[in-house]
Amino acid sequence: MDGLQAENPGVGGIRGNAEERYRALAYDTALSTLVAVAVYVVVKVSLDGIRQWRASISVLIVGSGPVGLTAALVAVRSGKVLKLTVLDERYRTALLCRPQQIALDPWSVKFLLGLGVDFDNMEGCWHNEHFFTRIGVFQEYLLSILEQKKQKVDVKVLLGTKFTEEYLRRIPRNEWPRVIVVADGSCGDSCSVLGISSDYTVETCHAYGANATIERPDQRQVPTPEIRAHSLYFDLSAYGMEALREHRNPTAKPGFHLKIYGTFRNRYMALVCHASDTKMVRFLRHTANSSIMKNIFHQSFNVYKTDIEPRLNDVTLHHMQCSRRLFEIQLSHRRISAAYIEGDNVAVTVEGEAARVLNFDTGCGVNLGMRGLESMGTFIYRTATAVDQNDILEALSAKMKHSRQMAETFKQTGLAQSMYE
Ligand SMILES: Cc1cc2nc3c(=O)[nH]c(=O)nc-3n(C[C@H](O)[C@H](O)[C@H](O)COP(=O)(O)OP(=O)(O)OC[C@H]3O[C@@H](n4cnc5c(N)ncnc54)[C@H](O)[C@@H]3O)c2cc1C
Repeated sequence: MDGLQAENPGVGGIRGNAEERYRALAYDTALSTLVAVAVYVVVKVSLDGIRQWRASISVLIVGSGPVGLTAALVAVRSGKVLKLTVLDERYRTALLCRPQQIALDPWSVKFLLGLGVDFDNMEGCWHNEHFFTRIGVFQEYLLSILEQKKQKVDVKVLLGTKFTEEYLRRIPRNEWPRVIVVADGSCGDSCSVLGISSDYTVETCHAYGANATIERPDQRQVPTPEIRAHSLYFDLSAYGMEALREHRNPTAKPGFHLKIYGTFRNRYMALVCHASDTKMVRFLRHTANSSIMKNIFHQSFNVYKTDIEPRLNDVTLHHMQCSRRLFEIQLSHRRISAAYIEGDNVAVTVEGEAARVLNFDTGCGVNLGMRGLESMGTFIYRTATAVDQNDILEALSAKMKHSRQMAETFKQTGLAQSMYE
C-alpha cells in the first residue's frame, strides 16, 4: 500500500487538487446562489413595499346613511384610497332632516373616536357611556369631516344621485372603482344592479317582541337618553288572563324588558321577552284583540316616561301606533355580503341594514352596521395591495367571514346588550 502511494505521488496530488478546486467551485456557486437569492428577496421585498406603499384605489360608496358615511371615513383613513365617491339618492335637505335618533353604544363610540369623530362638536347627549344624537345631525357631522379630507383624497359627495345601471354605464371603463361599498339601507336595490343575490338567511333571536311609536309634533326634537325597565309583568286579568299566578313559577324566565327611546317628538318603545311558552306569552302572541298591546304600551309609557314629558291620555293616545301582538324577533342577513365582479375587477361589499336587519327596532340598530365596518379598513388595504385575483378573493372571503361572525354574535348577545341589560 505504502509502495503504491510512493510509486504514484502525482496521481494523489492531482486528485487532491481536483477535489480542492471542486470544493472551491461548489463553495463559489453556493455563495453566489445565496447572494442572488438574498438580492432577489431584498429587491422583491423593497418593490413589494414600494408597491404597497404606493397602491391606492378608487372606492364608490352607495348610500350616505350613518353606515355609508362612516364607511367613507374608514376608506379615507385606510390611506389606500385615491378617489372616493359617495352617493345618495336623497338631496341634502331630505338626508339631513331624518327625525329618528340613533344611539351609539360604547363600542361604536370608541370606533368613531378612532376615525377622528369629535363628540364634543356634535349635538347630542351622553348616558351610560352611550351617545344619543339625531341621525341627520350625525350625517351632517360626517359630511363636514369628509369635506375637510378633500385636500388629501379626491372626495366627491353626490347627493340626489341614485345608483342605477345607467349610472354605472356612464362611468368610463378606465375609471371604474376597484371597491364598491353598498350601504343603501334595508330598502335599497343596488345589490340587484350589481347582480348580487338577494337571498337572506333568517334566524331566530329566541325572543319575542313588539314595537310602538308615538309622534307628537308639539314636542322637542332634541336627543334624549333612553329609559330601560326590566322584569315587567302585566295584569291582563281584564282580558281573562290570570298572569300573576304564573310569574311566581320559579322556572319561568324573568318577565318583559321595556325600552323607551327617541326624541320627545318621535318616541319609540320596544318590549321584549325571552322566547317561552308561558300562558301570558302565548296569549300575547296569538290574541286577535289589538287593544291589549296598545293598552300595555300606553300604561307602560305613563309609568316609565321621564317626569318632564306629558302623559298619554285617551285624547293623545291616537298619536301612538303599535304592533298588534308579540312576534318572533328574527335577524335576516344576506347570504352573499361580498362579491367579485370578475370582468370589471371590482370587489363589492354590502354593509349596514343593506346586509343585515332585524324585524324589530331595538333603538340600537345603527351599531350592528358599525360593527360590520370593523373589517372595512383591512379589506380596502388588502384589495388595494392585491397582487392578483386570488388576493382579492381572499380579502372578500375574510370580509364575508366577519359578516357571518357578527350575525352569530348578535344572535347570542345583541338583544341582551340592547334590551336586557
Ligand atoms: C323609526 C326608526 C327609529 C329608529 N330608531 C333608532 C334609534 O333610536 N337608535 C338607533 O341606533 N337606530 C335607530 N333606528 C335604526 C337606524 O336608523 C338604522 O340602523 C340606520 O339608519 C341604518 O343605517 P344605514 O346607513 O345602514 O341605512 P340608511 O340609514 O337607511 O341609509 C341608506 C341610504 O342609502 C340611500 N339609498 C338607497 N338606495 C339608494 C340608491 N340606489 N342610490 C343612492 N342612494 C341610495 C338612502 O337614501 C339612504 O340615505 C331607527 C330606525 C327607524 C326606521
